[in-house]
Amino acid sequence: MVKETGLHCACSTRQNLAGICARTAGTIRRCIPLAFTPWIALVFFLIDAHAETGGVTREKSVAITFDDLPHANAGDDGADQPSAQSIQDANARILAALGDHKAPAIGFVVESKARAVGPVAKDILKDWTGPRLTLGNHTFSHADTNTLDIAGIKREIVDGEKTTRRTLKAAGKDLRFLRFPYNHTVDTPEKQKAIAALAAKLGYTIAASTIDTSNDVFDRAYERALAENDTEAAHRIRTAYLMHTQQQIAYYADLNEQVLGYEPPAIMLLHVNRLNADAIKGILSLFEESGPGFITLEKAQADAAYRRPLSYTTKYGPMWGYRWAKDRSVRIDGSLEREPPEWIVSYGE
Ligand SMILES: [Zn+2]
Repeated sequence: MVKETGLHCACSTRQNLAGICARTAGTIRRCIPLAFTPWIALVFFLIDAHAETGGVTREKSVAITFDDLPHANAGDDGADQPSAQSIQDANARILAALGDHKAPAIGFVVESKARAVGPVAKDILKDWTGPRLTLGNHTFSHADTNTLDIAGIKREIVDGEKTTRRTLKAAGKDLRFLRFPYNHTVDTPEKQKAIAALAAKLGYTIAASTIDTSNDVFDRAYERALAENDTEAAHRIRTAYLMHTQQQIAYYADLNEQVLGYEPPAIMLLHVNRLNADAIKGILSLFEESGPGFITLEKAQADAAYRRPLSYTTKYGPMWGYRWAKDRSVRIDGSLEREPPEWIVSYGE
């Protein structure tokens, strides 16, 4: 089992730097034979983009997803365990904001965290089955699939769905989505093939994500400020987080459009923690100000970009824009992605 005290599920900045996010130098371009003239290449690019969009003009949209329910910091080792009241409060404020903004959302549950939280977890998860809401499976113990064989991954999936499936069934809803911890979607073609077959057999769709805000990095700093009753620092961290989120929304929209030739429905990756409980209203407002309408994850992943199976495999957890770039041999300049400010990183260490 991988300890939760470090990175959570996102494609972390450090993982990006080490891996697939492939911060290659140079401008974005399609890889085409040198014999092709630029004009012919442009025609091919437009045909490709038109094929993926189906020639349809799309409205901008985003699906909101939360990982590590009932709470990202529940069940971790260490003395900073959130209280049951704090966990209830964080979920209640997130759900209230989603309701106010009429934003559909899905919460991915870690079964071991639900058990660590105790009986109150059932009430919290039930609240996530209300209007426009649903739950997904985020495995039993938040284990890293890179460290497991297929049998181990199957156990994590099957054991991870117990409370979630029961809660959804009571609400008359189906369990459909699975998201692997750290967005590690297995690291070899052989495992990828086996996992695709296993997920299909168990009735799951693998959840994608396209916007990463490094919210675990900001949350570590935020938790320190709150622990020290430093309200001024907490305010500065929240402000920096919203600014970084705004930059990341724009960055990934641009990345996806350059890779695919159009902007597919975005999928926002967040975690249930105190930072997001305090910042969610601001995050939802950022989307409303920049245009995208809120849709369900199911509707987002009905887009052609998500329906086309990925052939690229990696041991890291990059956002889908980077994966689409690899699959389509589109060279990108990942160095353009902003990192969280250094003072945030060092303050949270
Ligand atoms: Zn996670």
